[in-house]
Amino acid sequence: MKFVLASHNRGKLREMQEILAELGVEVVLQSDVGLDLEPEETGTTFAENAAIKARAVMEASGLPAIADDSGLCVHALGGAPGIYSARYGGLDDDAARCRLLLANLRGATDRGARFHSAIVCAFPNGEVLQAAGECAGTIAFAPMGAGGFGYDPVFFVPELRKTFAQLTAEEKNAISHRGNALRAFAAELKTYLEKD
Ligand code: IMP
Repeated sequence: MKFVLASHNRGKLREMQEILAELGVEVVLQSDVGLDLEPEETGTTFAENAAIKARAVMEASGLPAIADDSGLCVHALGGAPGIYSARYGGLDDDAARCRLLLANLRGATDRGARFHSAIVCAFPNGEVLQAAGECAGTIAFAPMGAGGFGYDPVFFVPELRKTFAQLTAEEKNAISHRGNALRAFAAELKTYLEKD
């Protein structure tokens, strides 16, 4: 079975292909089937936004489509930046968004946070599969590490005493929200494919 990933990101495609390879399914990017969709993410949750993207690509391609949506939820900020993680403060670069986050947390006693990732697969027959993954941590007092992207330099994992940006890609994938969501999704899809 062929699936379209509702994304333009080859890195995300590679991650998805690696985890779904053992199920014998093919995954391609939306651009590989001639699509260039950017549906407006009008949902109020990660799962709703993933569903909007998956449904749009499924309807346009006629193929089952997979989408993910993720972000950082900080306890002391009432779950912000949450679904607005990519546009926090209207800022358009990662370092500036990390600085804003640190500034907004100045004086906070609770620095707890969690990354959340939702994955939705929409099938042309109307069926939908959903999975989610989380990773709990704290927000560091200053950025540390040069790896990763986004909020990685300020997301500290107490058990490893490192930020996400100080982990190798493999180390991060083993514990990250996206890794956990991908593994949960692979298990969902396996069950779904076995039932037919
Ligand atoms: P997306 O839904 O995967 O595009 O993620 C939305 C935004 O959440 C990104 O632009 C990042 O700011 C943030 N984000 C999601 N996952 C991660 C991660 O693993 N590390 C750092 N930031 C992330």
